[in-house]
Amino acid sequence: MADDATTLKHAVGFDPDALREKYRRERDKRLRSDGEGQYIELRGRYARYVEEDPYADPEFSREPLTDEVEVVVIGGGFAGLIAATRLREAGLADIRIIEAGGDFGGTWYWNRYPGAQCDIESYCYLPLLEETNYVPKEKYSYAPEIFEHSKRIARTYNLYDVACFQTRVTELRWNEDLERWIVSTNRNDAMKARFVVLATGPANRPKLPGIPGLDDFEGHTFHTSRWDYGYTDGDTNGNLHKLADKRVAVIGTGATAIQCVPHVGASAQRLYVFQRTPSSVDFRGNKPTDSEWAQSLKPGWQLERQENFNDVVTGRPFEVDLVNDAWTDIFRNLQSLFPVGAKSDLSPEEAARLGELADFQKMNHVRARVDQTVKNPRLAEELKPWYRQFCKRPTFNDDYLPTFNRPNVTLVDTSASKGVERITRNGVMANGVEYEVDCVIFATGFEISTAFRRRIGLEIYGRGGQSLYDYWSGGMRTLHGHSCHGFPNWFFVGASQNGISVNFSSMIGGQARHIAYIINEARARGADCVQPTAQAEAQWVATIRSLAGNNNAFLESCTPGYYNNEGKFDESAGKFGADIYTPGANAFNALLAAWRENGKLEGLELS
Ligand code: NDP
Repeated sequence: MADDATTLKHAVGFDPDALREKYRRERDKRLRSDGEGQYIELRGRYARYVEEDPYADPEFSREPLTDEVEVVVIGGGFAGLIAATRLREAGLADIRIIEAGGDFGGTWYWNRYPGAQCDIESYCYLPLLEETNYVPKEKYSYAPEIFEHSKRIARTYNLYDVACFQTRVTELRWNEDLERWIVSTNRNDAMKARFVVLATGPANRPKLPGIPGLDDFEGHTFHTSRWDYGYTDGDTNGNLHKLADKRVAVIGTGATAIQCVPHVGASAQRLYVFQRTPSSVDFRGNKPTDSEWAQSLKPGWQLERQENFNDVVTGRPFEVDLVNDAWTDIFRNLQSLFPVGAKSDLSPEEAARLGELADFQKMNHVRARVDQTVKNPRLAEELKPWYRQFCKRPTFNDDYLPTFNRPNVTLVDTSASKGVERITRNGVMANGVEYEVDCVIFATGFEISTAFRRRIGLEIYGRGGQSLYDYWSGGMRTLHGHSCHGFPNWFFVGASQNGISVNFSSMIGGQARHIAYIINEARARGADCVQPTAQAEAQWVATIRSLAGNNNAFLESCTPGYYNNEGKFDESAGKFGADIYTPGANAFNALLAAWRENGKLEGLELS
């Protein structure tokens, strides 16, 4: 074993121990005692960051609804669209989709910032391509094409007829006498629904850092998910002409900033990018779709591609890498480290060790790319990420790093002070220096891993008036991530307690099919109510926890972020990264398929 390790160390050309130690130091530098508490909840005077809709009709009004529908789907993004589609396919006509925005699209309705693009290959990421007879124009679609595709899905399945836009659900309450959910909204609705599918998505509420002085700033501010084109001019292609005489601060350097910073840098008089943790920015290499290839696609091609991608990025064995991009590169690299034919003989420890080596190699490549692109060596050093690639969502962009070669663009590294220090009347302070700006753009992400009540943003009361959030106070409790004891006829489409995929639409696809099956079966079997037994739920939670081992150790070693509860991993029970079915989406979908095949609705009680 030791010889193997030495040989590998030699082969990869760096010292893994030194790198591991460097990662640890960089993580420790960023750990904050307030963890998630550093972010402020978007209530009261901050509610505008989530409630304002620059794209919808401000005059819209309608009479409150008090009628009854069979299924209410909450959310009109990919999760809601796919769920509604599968329900329609299962024969359910009486559906209503409630959506806060003015149209379908969810993330792709709200996120219209310049440069917005999917980071997963569009042939895998855009849902229901075969069903809607559409092939994306490029390997990585830009936001307008994805938004348009959301509308295409809705048109194809006649979902506009059942949409209830510009409506936020405020409360779901189970009425035991009626055996119906009462769905209350900000438009004074009190609809009744037999079934509810909560499909609000993991990234629907913008997140704001509680930086001291936030309210003092006298200039303009907005969050990237509510881009103010009235202020900047231009559109998702850039051309932000009104910034030509403006000094702009972008706070944050995650996946969103990576995409919008090149456009702000190209248009603004001066741009300051406030960075706390550098992103891993890999090669993108977008290209137009080859029409010959598109015409050659055979039925079933999209699911096959999605499953192949899931296999590759969860480290399962694969023969061919259909997507073949920078996401999958790390796992191709990993395969090259395995002695031929030895893969299946590896112990979990050895596989983890080799996985770490492949990751180190990949990140060395990502860091070398910074050196190759950024002319100023000091700046290049500041832009290098020192953590394992999947500690944060990896990013892919060919214009972000070159933006820092522009004379009007300044990177402000705030890592020493664990973030921006203060916002003043005139600008942003970091490292004791005030940077005067006209506008602050928050590229600070979404409430993905804060407390459930806060991030789901509506109250949910099940049997006996029990609050879901009280029920989940010790961590999430579900059967297969989709339903919950004491909350009959209630289903959840989400990223927790099910087989996660970095390709969210594929993950959602498996859940939506399953939920539609259960609802359909419950109706067919004449049941009024369906819910998991407490025992089945407890068993599933135990399964999730028992499989988490290596993943938890990995997340604990990571630089803080929403994957690891901002570094407070010991308090992360039920939080985003700690609550996944680690074998991945394909294994999870196979498990659900076998469950359906068995036909006994095991773990569910029908009444
Ligand atoms: P992230 O949560 O990834 O990034 C937020 C950024 O804000 C981080 O760089 C964070 O720094 C920084 N930040 C937070 N507080 C402070 C502070 N006080 N001072 C300075 N910086 C601060 O949000 P994004 O919107 O970039 O991305 C969120 C997710 O949305 C992605 O992970 C991805 O899943 C999804 N997304 C997907 C895209 C797609 O193509 N499909 C495109 C864009 C986003 P730190 O890292 O140190 O916490």
